[in-house]
Amino acid sequence: MENLGNKISEYRKQLDLTQKDLGDKLNVSPQAVSKWENGQAEPDASTIKKLCEIFKISTDELLGNDPPVKEIAITAAPVQPVVERVVQPVVQPVVERVVEQKIINGYCEECKKPVGPNEYVVTHSGRGGSIQHIYCNECNEKRIRSARIYAYDEFKRQNKKSLILGSLIALGVTALFCIMFMVIIKLEPLWATGLIAVGVFICWLAFGIQVFWEDSVVPDIFFFFLKSFTFPGVIFTLDLDGIIFLILVKVGGAILCAILSVIVFLFGLLFTPIASIFILPFAAIKRAFEGRSLKKAAN
Ligand SMILES: [Zn+2]
Repeated sequence: MENLGNKISEYRKQLDLTQKDLGDKLNVSPQAVSKWENGQAEPDASTIKKLCEIFKISTDELLGNDPPVKEIAITAAPVQPVVERVVQPVVQPVVERVVEQKIINGYCEECKKPVGPNEYVVTHSGRGGSIQHIYCNECNEKRIRSARIYAYDEFKRQNKKSLILGSLIALGVTALFCIMFMVIIKLEPLWATGLIAVGVFICWLAFGIQVFWEDSVVPDIFFFFLKSFTFPGVIFTLDLDGIIFLILVKVGGAILCAILSVIVFLFGLLFTPIASIFILPFAAIKRAFEGRSLKKAAN
């Protein structure tokens, strides 16, 4: 019976199921589903009943004893029903019947509109992606766009802040050294020459630190060591001695970490400005490119 096969195939595709998906639901092989759809075999009565339950139709509809159904799926925007698929007409005269059927997978978190297959995006947030969000395609696009615009604005803001602060510090240091220079040149001319060299050097350092502080290695290392304050403990024995030992180990570890982070911090403080001088031109170029690509993404 070819009609039954065609109908099974039609209804299956409407639900976006593969032959294997349908077979799994019915506990039969995908080959069996394929044979039904090609008219090489017919499902038994109990399987037909199950098929109708899956397709949410009556047995009459599946077996073609009913007038043909022109099915209209109501799409997500409930303004105007759009004809998505017309089930192929069979023998009898055409009687139109609107079946309000819509597969809903969830609701968009932004606009609360119901969304069906291929109409939404699932995103995850939180530690290890524990919270799931569903957004319709339009809202998701808007979110991506506003995130890009935000990233570019944030970049511009940070860049401006760094440049202003860096310039101010460099200017301040220059002014300080000019004053010192004018005082010292009256006392000792040779010292003053040396002071100019040191002053220019320190201006560069101050500028470099300020502009590239956020990208520098110092805070990263510092916070890495700070994090070790919360390292998990292992209880060696579950009696009082064991617990005291554990506390001592944790306190000792914390003190060690504090000392280490101060040493690393001071070392980084010394290292960063020296490195900044050499990094400055390259980093400035890199920032310019970064800004350009962020701007391009936002527009
Ligand atoms: Zn939405």
